[in-house]
Amino acid sequence: MTSARDAAAAVVDPEIRVITIDELGILRAVDEEPGTGRVVVTITPTYTGCPAMDVIRADIRRALAAAGHPDAEVRTVYHPAWSTDWISDTGRAKLAAAGIAPPAPRGDDTVVPLTLAVRCPRCGSPETTQISRFGSTACKALWRCRSCSEPFDHLKAL
Ligand SMILES: [Zn+2]
Repeated sequence: MTSARDAAAAVVDPEIRVITIDELGILRAVDEEPGTGRVVVTITPTYTGCPAMDVIRADIRRALAAAGHPDAEVRTVYHPAWSTDWISDTGRAKLAAAGIAPPAPRGDDTVVPLTLAVRCPRCGSPETTQISRFGSTACKALWRCRSCSEPFDHLKAL
């Protein structure tokens, strides 16, 4: 039987299918009640208003049931708020490989605008321009590289 933690961690983000919710930093905790086997999964949404969260909740319950944990509850926690800093190194590498520019870590300085750090995921050029605040989903912005002229999705940093 797959552990509840492993089953939940393997759920992929419905919008960015190359990355799991664990790598994205959405998955906060997986607790299994001793005795009852009831599983409580805690997640923090990436972007408020991202319709993907309903899909993610359903996907987690389905994955847990398939792994032998049919009694599962998914709780949503908004504090502390998710930030792009929670994306793991593996997750960042996968985003880059998929042509999605991973947001730069915010660090402890919120003054520096993130737009300075957006690099083209294809050629690595920092010569990029935001051409639309809305990319293929509400969570992404559309950017274009001035070096290779390719448009690409950039995850909005929070
Ligand atoms: Zn480029």
